[in-house]
Amino acid sequence: MPRIEAVFRRLCPNCHGEITASRLAKGLPCSTCLPEEPEQADPISIGEALQKLGKYGSYLELSYLERDFRDFSGYFEDKYGFAMSSAQRSWARRLLLLDSFSIVAPTGVGKTTLLMAYAAYRAEKDKWRVLYLEPGSPDGRQGLKNSWGGLRRLLL
Ligand SMILES: [Zn+2]
Repeated sequence: MPRIEAVFRRLCPNCHGEITASRLAKGLPCSTCLPEEPEQADPISIGEALQKLGKYGSYLELSYLERDFRDFSGYFEDKYGFAMSSAQRSWARRLLLLDSFSIVAPTGVGKTTLLMAYAAYRAEKDKWRVLYLEPGSPDGRQGLKNSWGGLRRLLL
């Protein structure tokens, strides 16, 4: 019995052309962009394969983001001695995309820990200058003292 596969218009993550459901499920670009399926279907390998073929499209941004994310994850683990939580990984990806967003989460989830690591990472890797703002209340001043000390420890 012949197998019928769904084809979606404008959903190739690289060229925004047609792509089959099976390729989408595997996280691959369409067969026009990447004729052969790579052995390793991770974003970095796929990005490298697309570059070799000269198929520069939107997928490369995903590939670069994944490379930055792995670099930052390694930095975070190196500085703290533990891996990021699921929430921190999600926020880290948005930070690395240079998104502007707010983080609303309960105390102790790791917002400050992540942001201190991110600030130190950008300062070290990209020579960014970091402006660290905290509330002006007495509680906030204590928070600033704690945060600034944490940031200095990361950078030293
Ligand atoms: Zn494509």
